[in-house]
Amino acid sequence: MKKLSEYTKAELIQRKEELQAAYCEFQNRNLHLDLSRGKPEKRQLELSMPMLDLVGKDEWYSEEGLDCRNYGGFEGLAEVRRLFGELLGVPEELVFPGGNSSLSMIHDAISRAFLFGPLPGFTPWSKLPEVKFICPVPGYDWHFHTCEDFGIEMLSVETGENGPDMDQIEELVKDPSVKGMICVPMYGNPSGVTYSDEVVERLAAMKTAAPDFRIIWDNAYCVHHLYEEEEKRDHLANIYEACRKYGHEDRVLMFTSTSKITFAGAGICAMACSPANRKEAMRVIFYQLVCYDKMNQLRHARFLPDKNAVELHMRKQAAILRPKFERVENILEEKIRPLEIGEWHNPRGGYFICYYAMPGTAKRIVQLCREAGVTLTPAGAAYPYDVDPKDSAIRIAPSYAPMEELNQVMELFPVAAELAAVERMLS
Ligand code: PMP
Repeated sequence: MKKLSEYTKAELIQRKEELQAAYCEFQNRNLHLDLSRGKPEKRQLELSMPMLDLVGKDEWYSEEGLDCRNYGGFEGLAEVRRLFGELLGVPEELVFPGGNSSLSMIHDAISRAFLFGPLPGFTPWSKLPEVKFICPVPGYDWHFHTCEDFGIEMLSVETGENGPDMDQIEELVKDPSVKGMICVPMYGNPSGVTYSDEVVERLAAMKTAAPDFRIIWDNAYCVHHLYEEEEKRDHLANIYEACRKYGHEDRVLMFTSTSKITFAGAGICAMACSPANRKEAMRVIFYQLVCYDKMNQLRHARFLPDKNAVELHMRKQAAILRPKFERVENILEEKIRPLEIGEWHNPRGGYFICYYAMPGTAKRIVQLCREAGVTLTPAGAAYPYDVDPKDSAIRIAPSYAPMEELNQVMELFPVAAELAAVERMLS
């Protein structure tokens, strides 16, 4: 196989005909497959079924003696604060457990900043003429739509293999209207990248013109390694510790959840932050609800009493996910690498592989897949305002489809990617 860029025009025309014929065959297969969202597969959900039996008759009491069926325990169960403290690497006193969704907690944190200011004394962001956020790209579409809803102007910063471009970020934060950054620092959605120690250190140390600058640290994939070997895992430095070292302990709001540990959308989540941020959050949330769902917190704390239990559970998840990631990567390696029409990074954890297609072809690839019955995340979704300036990134979410279906998608995908590239070169 030679590189596509070395084909003559006549060869490209011929190749286009071959690819079109192959593509038509896929259209005739009448596929209905969906790789658009990073949902766990059924077998992964089965792993957590024993959790449902852990809160049985007469077992409603938390370790502090709270009756979890009743109101009370606004600050969450002690065992849950301890667990999330371990997962996020912070003292349990800094953890505030929430309900079933970290996204909802993120949304609430941004709402509070807009309504009241991040801490007493700061101007509510809604009263400011403009609020801008740094958004490492490619990033999580839900984050970007949340920002858009709040009228936050999003400033894209490219993500490299070590994380976002810190030179650019350090320049951007000189603008006082840049109030924050929203990111997935570990096994990024969809980049798969984990921020290096240097990136974490610089984020903590940098001087920001806005004194109330906040980093929304969405650590959704903090324990989602695909491999057991230490050297095949990414490690994320502790940003809270780093912020504290530089006297910026209020800068970071950390979030995580068990959505991709136990049940997606039926897990538990938490925020961890400085004492001042936590106190202010609790002041507002106090009248937002009486308490979160302690029954679910109790089930989780019994099923996952500590970090070690989480590790053992996540190994079982990884055993299901790993072959799927490897299948996608092997096919890309075999079919795309020799043609040199795409790039990707083999993530060592998380839920996504980000495929960087020949610029100008991502939308077309997604369209070709769709018209052959395979739904992918829309091209552009990983960028603010749904616009990928290079029209290149495609998020591949291999988790949900059973292996047989993934195999079919990965037969089609290289055909679509090559056909789109050939069409582009001939245009
Ligand atoms: N953050 C990121 C980065 C995610 O990928 C996801 C799940 N797709 C979520 C948050 C959702 O988490 P939750 O269910 O806790 O709201």
